Amino acid sequence: MTDLTGLYSFSPRLLELAGQAEEKCREAFRRIEEIQAYNEAKVLKAFSDNRVSSAHLVGTTGYGYDDMGRDNLDKVFAQALGAEDALVRHQLVSGTHTLSTALFGVLRAGDTMVSVTGAPYDTMEEVIGIRGGNTGSLREFGVSYRQLELLPDGTPDYEAIEREAKTAKMVYIQRSRGYSLRPSLTVETIGKMAAAAKKGNPEVIVFVDNCYGEFVETKEPVEVGADLMAGSLIKNPGGGIAPTGGYIAGRHDLVELCGYRATCPGIGRESGCTQDQNRGLYLGFFHAPSAVANAVKTSCFACALFEELGYPTTPKCDDYRTDIIAAIELGSAENLCAFCRGIQAGSPVDSHVTPEPWAMPGYSDEVIMAAGTFTMGASLELSADGPLREPYSVWVQGGLTYNTGKLGILLAAQAMEDAKK
Ligand SMILES: *Cc1c(COP(=O)(O)O)cnc(C)c1O
Repeated sequence: MTDLTGLYSFSPRLLELAGQAEEKCREAFRRIEEIQAYNEAKVLKAFSDNRVSSAHLVGTTGYGYDDMGRDNLDKVFAQALGAEDALVRHQLVSGTHTLSTALFGVLRAGDTMVSVTGAPYDTMEEVIGIRGGNTGSLREFGVSYRQLELLPDGTPDYEAIEREAKTAKMVYIQRSRGYSLRPSLTVETIGKMAAAAKKGNPEVIVFVDNCYGEFVETKEPVEVGADLMAGSLIKNPGGGIAPTGGYIAGRHDLVELCGYRATCPGIGRESGCTQDQNRGLYLGFFHAPSAVANAVKTSCFACALFEELGYPTTPKCDDYRTDIIAAIELGSAENLCAFCRGIQAGSPVDSHVTPEPWAMPGYSDEVIMAAGTFTMGASLELSADGPLREPYSVWVQGGLTYNTGKLGILLAAQAMEDAKK
């Protein structure tokens, strides 16, 4: 461990455990660096094959017809993510909006969508229409929804997927655990799920919510049998630089349909000015494999350190990763609040503010959140949150650089130690 005397002070015990934790991560870090090197090469090749030039970095105004930068960015994303086609837009306001655009783009009245990974991410419930009022959900437009749970050990029920696919238009898979404690699904597992679905119904559309997953492995879901996937640019593929936006990638015919939903029938992908967004979206995508690797390393270190400190974590520090999230069971409200204070103190922005639990709309328990980010709500940047209820788990993600991510984690552990004095 580097000597940070004069900058930060940590207890000798914590520094010793941190040294051991980092030692425990060595093999995992080596694997992460290999994945990073491959993904950086993949992205660079996509830039050069598509002849990205300075003219692509400036944008358009008004209708945005013939926006070269926008159209070429779609191609760069498609190639690097192993997809036939992609739609990348700063007008997609969040991950939820992007996923919603894809679902409304592809599904029609009378269709059935089946989630085969249990309950979807919270915000998708209102899009689907299983929660909330009269707001224009898929259900109100005549799209039915069913849900298949994962098996008790968190693995997919392949036989049931095959059976469910027979009467479905779309099989919906969520790669990352989001804010649940189930394991995240590797790209290889998603491939097997897609194969099971297609065995039941060769026509079924396999869709993946890819949020938090991009560039954590060397392949993406559309390379192993998924038809379409989507994610947020203030998570992994924005590289910590894109200030907003989302992407949809996969089969060309389906991406075209999503384009008609993103703007309107007839116009589709040919309109939508980029103003001054292109440069940030290109630069962010270029940085993404490196920023994601730093976030995954931060996640491994967090798990290793808190395992040393005696707290259960999922995944374990040396488990194979498919997303950037770690959940740590802290066991008490005091620990959870202290942890979040430490993360906040280790942030580059708003490090002087103190996070407090609050009653967030839509949640049954109070929630505490720590985030001192350059982009509001960006969770490829170091951030942590958790509800104030048993077992007082905290979900940690991000870290644009490993060394600063590690400092945030150390400050969180130190804050827990200080709170006990
Ligand atoms: C973040 C996330 C979403 C939604 O993204 P927002 O940008 O918060 O709307 C959906 N699914 C998963 C798995 C996510 O992690």
